[in-house]
Amino acid sequence: MNSVVDSDTPPPLTPSLLYLDGVSVSFDGFRALNELSLQIAPGEMRAIIGPNGAGKTTMMDVITGKTRPDTGEVLFDRGIDLTRLDEAAIANLGIGRKFQKPTVFESHTVEDNILLSLKGDRRARTVLLARTNADEAQRIDEILTTVGLAAQRTRLAGLLSHGQKQWLEIGMLLAQDPKLLLVDEPVAGMTDAETEATAELLKRISAADHSVVVVEHDMAFVRALGVKVTCLHEGSVLAEGAIDVVSENPRVVEVYLGR
Ligand code: ADP
Ligand code: MG
Repeated sequence: MNSVVDSDTPPPLTPSLLYLDGVSVSFDGFRALNELSLQIAPGEMRAIIGPNGAGKTTMMDVITGKTRPDTGEVLFDRGIDLTRLDEAAIANLGIGRKFQKPTVFESHTVEDNILLSLKGDRRARTVLLARTNADEAQRIDEILTTVGLAAQRTRLAGLLSHGQKQWLEIGMLLAQDPKLLLVDEPVAGMTDAETEATAELLKRISAADHSVVVVEHDMAFVRALGVKVTCLHEGSVLAEGAIDVVSENPRVVEVYLGR
């Protein structure tokens, strides 16, 4: 009733940014995803854990349009049906994906890598010969600070450590200002110090109002994120909640952590 609504009335519950319901995907009769349901709130960071073959990467493939689900709903940003869109259209909606292996332009400097992503233009010569305007320069500064590479800006990307290349690629995704960032096993192959720095980096990104879904096996890293955790197993959610609760769930210990 309008008459009882006043300024003290709380706003309606925030709809999820990403909504998966009953999503199934089969490969030659094998169910990689089995009635998977998952919701991510705007600005939320979620960690996804689970044994190899649980369907973590397939879930990202479905969200990004690389794989079509056989059944189920995949909705983004107030009800956009991602199952009807191709990969390019989904990327344009503001879903960025970081694959495991870093793919940076090794023969360009760190700052030029960010600039190229900012322009969304692969014609490096055209972009790099044009003058960078003040807005672009400020965005590049912000992004390099966020990913901890401000001191490396004039170095060639090919000379960075493995961890720094991963951060640079995350910075290149940030240049597209994604609403949702999907990150698959970012700390694999990193040193302990790089792993800790990556947790801090993702927390900064999340605090800047990007939603993040991060798949990772490194439990020290997941713990450092301090966010809600979802454990997948055989294509569906086995357990969900705070890390301390999920990591003590007997089923999670049995199929994953106890191995
Ligand atoms: P995770 O990332 O959790 O390790 P995946 O999503 O990569 O798991 O894989 C889930 C299951 O689906 C695995 O058994 C895998 O072999 C299978 N699978 C994934 N992609 C394909 C594909 N394109 N063709 C056939 N089987 C696939
Ligand atoms: Mg995987």
